[in-house]
Amino acid sequence: MLSYQAARGKVIEIAKARFRPRSTETVDITRDPAGALGRIASEDIRADRDYPSFDRSIRDGIAVRSADVANVPMRLKAVGESKAGSSYPATLAQGECVHIMTGAPVPAGADAVVMVEYTKAEGDWMTVERTARAGDHIVRAGSEARANQIVIPRGTRIGYADLSVAAQVGAAKLPVFTRPLVAVLATGDELVPADEKPGAYAIRNSNSISLAAQVALSGAEPVILGPAPDRERELRELIERGLREDALVLSGGVSMGKYDLVENILLEAGAEFYFDGVAIRPGRPAVFGICKDKLVFGLPGNPVSAIVTFELLVTPAIDVLSGAAPRPLALFRAKVTHDLNEKPGLAHFLPAKMKFTDDGPTVEALRWQGSGDVVALVDANCFIVVGTTQEHISAGDWVDVFPRRGSI
Ligand code: AMP
Ligand code: MG
Repeated sequence: MLSYQAARGKVIEIAKARFRPRSTETVDITRDPAGALGRIASEDIRADRDYPSFDRSIRDGIAVRSADVANVPMRLKAVGESKAGSSYPATLAQGECVHIMTGAPVPAGADAVVMVEYTKAEGDWMTVERTARAGDHIVRAGSEARANQIVIPRGTRIGYADLSVAAQVGAAKLPVFTRPLVAVLATGDELVPADEKPGAYAIRNSNSISLAAQVALSGAEPVILGPAPDRERELRELIERGLREDALVLSGGVSMGKYDLVENILLEAGAEFYFDGVAIRPGRPAVFGICKDKLVFGLPGNPVSAIVTFELLVTPAIDVLSGAAPRPLALFRAKVTHDLNEKPGLAHFLPAKMKFTDDGPTVEALRWQGSGDVVALVDANCFIVVGTTQEHISAGDWVDVFPRRGSI
């Protein structure tokens, strides 16, 4: 059985080798900046001119010729001002200075800015109390970015900082890849929709909801199907419907029980599987393959298993379908608060709470009843990752911590 790292690597390898984003579109960032968040740039975005486009002062003060203030105190004649949005029209002559504001252009002839704190005004005369070196408090034209330089490479995931750059260079209609459509299909005779009251032995279908949210959080668009009963004909129809989207994520029906039909139906439909088990708990029965030229994931039905395996295995595939480089599996390190004893053989993902204390990060495993106990996740902002060979971990040891997305 593959380790979760190897399984994730396999998903990335297959997805990269066989899939590209479907198409591109533009997002108008002036109308809907938030709508661009998490999208992937489909073209290189270039600077439309030098940044800054002029020598810019980064302080309020006076623009001077540094040679004039080699000896201080020194009196200079204030001959005008330069404020953000306009400039002093002439060239600074020897013995002159110009009042200048943050963001304003440095006038011709000046080569330094003296902060207002180090000057004294007497009418038109300014006394400078500190020497200045050429370049002080000035950002040179083109030093942040040169005209035509790539400022946002294709494949970048757009966050608020990238949006700031896009706005700055005038890429108002931002070219991005279309979001992949990911079908979500929960299976199980016991499932009723979340807005219905279940009978004594039925349960509400929570996986469709959490998986759809994870799909959206990953940058794709969920298409919720089903749920499907554990009956071949209906299940086959819904699987075939799901295979029309860019990827299909199933939950349930991948274990060894009599009514676990998913793998067989996929095989009959021509699926090729790359793994049908991963050495983790929760999540061991997870399967991954390609069926009718689409990526297919069969995740275990227990809610925590579905959540964990989605994060580990499906997220990087969505990255590739979205036109991005697969996100690294980001693990933190923290000191565990209590002893842990886990059976070796599988990597364990234990719901846990990480805290950032004055003495550094700590993490506490939470009480839980196993992979069906999604209630335990409400208080969990992460999972402690216990390696396959780690049997005993002592309080105070450093452990790997896998954050629950959005909660740290
Ligand atoms: P399975 O993987 O189909 O054997 O399901 C394992 C466990 O997860 C069973 O207890 C199911 O009732 C539960 N389960 C399966 N699908 C869902 C779902 N969509 N929502 C909530 N729980 C589920
Ligand atoms: Mg089932």
